[in-house]
Amino acid sequence: PTAELQALDAAHHVHPFTTGADLAKKGARVITRAEGSWLTDSEGERILDGMAGLWCVNIGYGRKELAAAASRQMEELPYYNTFFQTTHVPAIQLSARIAELAPGNLNHVFYASSGSEANDTNIRLVRTYWAEKGQPERQVIISRWNAYHGSSLGSMSLGGMKGMHGQGGVVPGVHHIDQPNWWAEGGDMSPEEFGLERARQLEAAIEEIGPEKVAAFIAEPVQGAGGVIIPPETYWPEIERIVKKYGILLIADEVICGFGRTGNWFGSQTMGITPDIMTIAKGLSSGYQPIGGSVLSDEVAEVISGTEFNHGYTYSGHPVACAVALENLRILDEEGIVEKVREETGPYLKQKFESLTEHPLVGEAKIVGFMGSIALTPDKASRAAFASEAGTVGYICRERCFANNLVMRHVGDRMIISPPLVLTREEIDVLIARAWKSLDECHARLKA
Ligand code: PLP
Repeated sequence: PTAELQALDAAHHVHPFTTGADLAKKGARVITRAEGSWLTDSEGERILDGMAGLWCVNIGYGRKELAAAASRQMEELPYYNTFFQTTHVPAIQLSARIAELAPGNLNHVFYASSGSEANDTNIRLVRTYWAEKGQPERQVIISRWNAYHGSSLGSMSLGGMKGMHGQGGVVPGVHHIDQPNWWAEGGDMSPEEFGLERARQLEAAIEEIGPEKVAAFIAEPVQGAGGVIIPPETYWPEIERIVKKYGILLIADEVICGFGRTGNWFGSQTMGITPDIMTIAKGLSSGYQPIGGSVLSDEVAEVISGTEFNHGYTYSGHPVACAVALENLRILDEEGIVEKVREETGPYLKQKFESLTEHPLVGEAKIVGFMGSIALTPDKASRAAFASEAGTVGYICRERCFANNLVMRHVGDRMIISPPLVLTREEIDVLIARAWKSLDECHARLKA
């Protein structure tokens, strides 16, 4: 029975990103099965998953081909490592496939089991890169406030979630600049002016730190956990100009944006940028197996290979995870899922999602491909924030969504969607109808 499961869960299971008070108020919902874009809980309720798990189940749930790929690989070679001059077929094939799909000359993959591990790898990679190039003083990595790059100590320090690390993180040599969130911080500027202003913070930071000390700039093409902040069009071209001017490495964290989420294989392609390193995870296996990695340009890989890169994880290139990822990429490709997001269901979702701005609580609604967010506001004209502590209204709205069997997430008073890429038009209609109903209920609660 559900109550018994919840009691055991509360007694013995420590949940990430959950307060004891939340769990005490209401037991955790027990998810038992999933198919397509739908979850089923232990009470038999069907829930539309507007978040694809944690932004990761790109091909949807229940694909038996992935289970079969895992099973075949477990029987043939359940584990072997890729250290000390050994390799195996799934790692070879997956690396070659990622190189085909990745933009520019990003042709080399270093594996991890998660996005966090991959970003930790990146810290060591860029520092090794500059040391090998005879510039070991280039240690500083510039990142952005409100970025999420993972929960390990290194990736958390790269990230800019103040709630996670106060002001500085624990890894020295990380410097943060502001995010391009026009709605909340753009003031009287046009989005285009604001995009330039925020990008130029990178140049100011490099000058302040000293260009000879800066190793890399890391950013998500579209900031995800920070609230799906889609940058103004002027932002990325200016960032790329600055990165090139100073010769620093550009790391695109594609953990959310990669593998179709923005309507192209990678968010870098949607934003028109050419990074030197990409972080990948999540959609690489559609979450069916834990796998991540760093994809390196020819130049970075060549420099790194000049030394022994003293870094690796027991599960770097795990054969079962690689086999599942390969099958996932085959399905994404052969079923034209990325093109559908770009040309069919994506534009339909955009039209429906943007219509949420007609709701009295919704200021802006912005979406690229299958990742979008709405800003909740008491006054659309002034783009005002609620008087209550940030996140209070978002939390109520998320709760209403969940009660209406729709998973949406809130970041402060922004509400987010990032559904499976296989969501159909009919399911998009359901998602929008449930979101609207939940917004109505939230609105009624605020007025009460
Ligand atoms: N980078 C980004 C952009 C993410 O959104 C996340 C997770 O949400 C991570 C890195 C960390 O990935 P993982 O949770 O697999 O460690």
